[in-house]
Amino acid sequence: MPDLLIRGLYHSATACTLMLLIACAEAPAQTYAAPVTAPVPSPAATTTPVAFEAPAPLLTFEEWRSLLRSDAIAAGINAQLFDRTFAGITPDPKVIAADRSQPEFTRPVWEYIDGAVSVARVAQGRVLKTQHRPTLKAIRSAYRVDHEVLIAIWGMESNFGSNIGNSNVIRSLATLAFEGRRQAFWRGQLLAALQIMQAGDYHGKTLIGSWAGAMGQTQFMPTTFNEHAVDFDGDGRRDLWGSIPDALASAAHYLSKSGWINGESWGVEVTLPKNFDYDLADPEIRRSMAQWRELGVRPVREIRATDESQATLFLPAGYRGPAFLLLNNFRVILRYNNSTAYALAIGLLSDALDGEPGVQAAWPRGDRQLGRSERIEIQQLLTAKGFDTGPADGIIGANTRKAVRAFQHTQNLPADGYPSYELLQALRRL
Ligand code: CA
Repeated sequence: MPDLLIRGLYHSATACTLMLLIACAEAPAQTYAAPVTAPVPSPAATTTPVAFEAPAPLLTFEEWRSLLRSDAIAAGINAQLFDRTFAGITPDPKVIAADRSQPEFTRPVWEYIDGAVSVARVAQGRVLKTQHRPTLKAIRSAYRVDHEVLIAIWGMESNFGSNIGNSNVIRSLATLAFEGRRQAFWRGQLLAALQIMQAGDYHGKTLIGSWAGAMGQTQFMPTTFNEHAVDFDGDGRRDLWGSIPDALASAAHYLSKSGWINGESWGVEVTLPKNFDYDLADPEIRRSMAQWRELGVRPVREIRATDESQATLFLPAGYRGPAFLLLNNFRVILRYNNSTAYALAIGLLSDALDGEPGVQAAWPRGDRQLGRSERIEIQQLLTAKGFDTGPADGIIGANTRKAVRAFQHTQNLPADGYPSYELLQALRRL
């Protein structure tokens, strides 16, 4: 347990108001504009728009497969297993289309959160948390990871096991390794998938998962599976598809290895004082909870953290939306899926499972969302005016945020680094 509780204002009056307004917004998890670079793509992490034109493959699929076969055998894969697994396998055009998809519009973060932390999901998660309490307690003893975050990950990744994908993982990974982006990454995943088959963890004919090869109730990529999946029910197989104890314990093992601090919060919503310096809302700027308090940043409720706990300030929808202080465990969740919207959803869903109220401040729901081409336009205009964003790819990363802030300072606008429609209009006017 932490040494000291951080005490803040507690607004119970509006508890769950937002959550009730957003009932039944269930939708498949989908990333918003945040760039996703994790080597562990999940369904939530695979729709990131990235400008890409693949070169035509130099080899035919058959020639490529024959080279892969030699590599696989050299890596210890049984030749008969390889041949049986690859019999009739052809590249899947749907996987290539999904990999190259560059959607113009992505959902705003509040819609994503609405879907992720829906009333229905919270209710189901609470029932499952009670139902699986003995398993969750045993997992907490073994890996020191709290119950709620595991239930939240389970809900986000596979809707509590009800949506684990129905793609042939070997076919998907072979397609991506043959002609997708990041071919070396996919080749490594494919070899890892063959190792899983050889280890006998899965009893079906071939591995089943998402179109991008994420498997089971926790949607582990094959290399993550090989490093972190555990057999928690003791039947000798790491069965992330059919065994809830295996799935939840594997997620706990992964979080634990990624630095999870049991008993500390992921973060907390905060209020900011008037005339706050929004330059401080930057993932690269860390302060202790005590320092944030001195700056007038107030948690809206009690959280589990010490005065010394390091936190960053996060404004997911710019200065006019809710503000959050993010602690160590938020960064651990990012290791699971490197999308800030995803990690925020996991944190808020964990809180809701623990009976905490939802987000107190209003999201700027009336804001007009920027499309991909408008984000690119912002980057081009900023760079042309001397605020270098790096490549104009429509992805709002650290360089773009920095350029946005620098421009906002010259215009006496709140320097939150957030690319809004108003910012685009201001740039167009210049
Ligand atoms: Ca097992």
